[in-house]
Amino acid sequence: MLTGRMMDFPLTLTHFLERARSYYAAQEIVSRKPDKSLHRYTYADFHKRVCQLANALTRLGVKPGDRVASLSWNHHQHLEVYFGVPAMGAVMHTLNLRLHPNDLGYIARHAEDTVIVVDRSLLPLVEKFEKAAGSLKHVIVIPDDGPVPEGRLDYEQLLAAESPTFEFPRLDENSAAMLCYTSGTTGNPKGVLFSHRSIVLHTLVCCLPEVLGLKESDTVLAVVPMFHAAAWGLPFDALLTGAKQVLPGPHLDPQSLLELMQNEKVTVAGGVPTIWLGILAQLDREPGKWDLGRMRHMVIGGSAAPPALIDGFRKRHGQNVLHAWGMTEMNPVGTLARLKGDLHTASPETQLDAYASQGYSVPFVETRHVSDTGEILPWDGKAMGELEVRGPMVAASYYGDEGKDRFTKDGWFKTGDVVTIDPAGYLHITDRSKDVIKSGGEWISSVALENALMAHPSVLEAAVFAGRHPKWDERPLAAVVFKPGQEATKAELTAHLEKQFAKWWLPDDILFVTQIPRTSTGKFLKMKLREDYGDHLMKASVAS
Ligand code: AMP
Repeated sequence: MLTGRMMDFPLTLTHFLERARSYYAAQEIVSRKPDKSLHRYTYADFHKRVCQLANALTRLGVKPGDRVASLSWNHHQHLEVYFGVPAMGAVMHTLNLRLHPNDLGYIARHAEDTVIVVDRSLLPLVEKFEKAAGSLKHVIVIPDDGPVPEGRLDYEQLLAAESPTFEFPRLDENSAAMLCYTSGTTGNPKGVLFSHRSIVLHTLVCCLPEVLGLKESDTVLAVVPMFHAAAWGLPFDALLTGAKQVLPGPHLDPQSLLELMQNEKVTVAGGVPTIWLGILAQLDREPGKWDLGRMRHMVIGGSAAPPALIDGFRKRHGQNVLHAWGMTEMNPVGTLARLKGDLHTASPETQLDAYASQGYSVPFVETRHVSDTGEILPWDGKAMGELEVRGPMVAASYYGDEGKDRFTKDGWFKTGDVVTIDPAGYLHITDRSKDVIKSGGEWISSVALENALMAHPSVLEAAVFAGRHPKWDERPLAAVVFKPGQEATKAELTAHLEKQFAKWWLPDDILFVTQIPRTSTGKFLKMKLREDYGDHLMKASVAS
């Protein structure tokens, strides 16, 4: 082999920090506090405080490879921890503030966190699991909504005592930078350990014009929590490109977000479908109230974005929606629904199909789908199978080596998502493998039925799940939440579905509920629906 003669320069996050300080010193980071006031500072201020934090953590004994946890909303101090911890060679571990204390205790112990940085407003939660966490030596409290209690380390005081310069070490690009646990609905959560290299590659890929296409003139709003799959990498993308960052703190209601988008002139925002469903409903209620003229695109992912949501934003509010699919195990963005080739000139309906699909792979994510019997399926838009992925931003194993069965012998990761792939490479997720509905041995797509129900004008949200059935084994059941002040009968909703689906696909019953149970990261928790209503049809058949 003739070896290339290029420098062996590591791909690490330290470069992001240096670049922000050298080229984008005056760029702004704006974050919202619990009292709704805004905190503003520049990348230059941010850089100084990241150095102060690295000095403070070093003084507390944090060494390369140590896990430093965060339990915080999206705000500037959380961003400082995001960069300061990996740049000093330690590992940033984001804890999900929506989890039960027992789960947090399990995760913190599993990760062997030695330090936790927590918002004062969330300290009561830490108090419930800090003993169970086992190895915690320091709890550092960010005074977000009031003074830090006696006897606890105060984040601001720690930083104030330190020098604003820090000699960041030259790190190996394969060293661990960040630890994120999956939001798994079954079994224990599993840890995914991102390397500096994978985060850097992911950032470069996401900033490409055909992906998120971020640039210095953008203003990025990460609504997606920084504790969920690294906020899809948005903080990294923004820092590398020198874009302005806006962080919403704990205020995630549509009104607060719309205010922030308008006043801070946001151009790119990312969040899960629930967030955007709320925003769309608000815009529909008060059209013309908010000036979102600077928005370039709204990024939607984390669970399937209903076509009616994408269409509603496009047609009624002139907003460009980008549907993305990914997983924590993938750093996390895997595919994105942008038009390509003939689709640029296709009919609006065909374009909507593409926008509502999960899109095609970003560079360096390779995909295939495989049948139950292990056969690799064709990209014909029909064959359904489990999606497998590989690439330099895909986990090679879980932290602690659990879940080995998710990795194939020939080097692919099994996603657990059931998909079709069309000839142009666009993915269509039809289900999570564990949520598949098999009726009389035939398979019914819950996602397709949900999307159709959510296209009904009265329906805010709908989840379709398997109900046990004495004859067919499983039959689809739907849980529906209406928009405020709206209603429809079961017969009306069934008639609406009949236009699109074969009779045997139609749900056997439609349950009207006030909310659909969700996972800690906002996905429909179908396991809970199955637990609560799974026997509904058995009972009905006994009664009839
Ligand atoms: P997480 O690791 O919490 O981000 O969860 C990853 C899982 O969320 C994927 O395996 C999918 O099941 C689901 N998911 C993420 N994005 C989408 C999407 N755009 N459409 C459908 N499912 C999605």
